Amino acid sequence: MPETPPPDPAAIAANLADVRARIAAAARRAGRRAEDVTLVAVCKTHPAAAVAAAIAAGQRQFGENRVQEAAAKFPALRAAHPDLHLHLIGGLQTNKAREAVRIADVIETLDRPRLADALGEAADREGRLPRLLIQVNTGAEPQKSGIARDAADAFIAACQARFGAAVAGLMCIPPAAADPAAHFAWLAACAARHRLAMLSMGMSADFETAIAHGATHVRVGSAIFGHRPPAAG
Ligand SMILES: *Cc1c(COP(=O)(O)O)cnc(C)c1O
Repeated sequence: MPETPPPDPAAIAANLADVRARIAAAARRAGRRAEDVTLVAVCKTHPAAAVAAAIAAGQRQFGENRVQEAAAKFPALRAAHPDLHLHLIGGLQTNKAREAVRIADVIETLDRPRLADALGEAADREGRLPRLLIQVNTGAEPQKSGIARDAADAFIAACQARFGAAVAGLMCIPPAAADPAAHFAWLAACAARHRLAMLSMGMSADFETAIAHGATHVRVGSAIFGHRPPAAG
């Protein structure tokens, strides 16, 4: 593993200010209000000190890929900042469902009936249910999580029947090589069909496009925290 340099709080604060300004400008161009777009700062692979720097700069919503990493980092931060919001945005194994339900405010990657079963069971045991987003594999990429487009309507309806209003919206990660706009437009139309308000789409490279297509949550990592080691996904 390459040495990760210690986080630079001033750089993180400046990056956050820049991303927030770009979000506000993109919202304005789309005829939307800046406050209707929530920035989820994706801090996977970055140390708690980097998260603390973002918190000091006013950031409260964070995204992590791995349950284990989130469980190691967040309880202490949350003890100091009870208003933190943790989004789990990585593909979720059923054997991590219980820990995910325990620590997450939003699980963005509900994508198959077996995971719905595991989350339902975990919610019963833990006595809490995070908000749930359904991830759609809009690019039909075999290596990616997400329900297939043609199975999405039935799966969303089944999840709404089971979990009610906890099913808050949809999430997608367009293929890296594709023009993301068509993927974002598809996801927005799908959310509208199911009267789902939350649309988590857009990352460092394409969050402005996502905002133009109605994103309510953008998941931005490297533009805030800098680059990650390539293997970190
Ligand atoms: C890592 C990750 C992001 C953030 O990606 P950046 O390109 O660093 O902004 C967003 N969403 C998901 C699901 C991720 O895994």
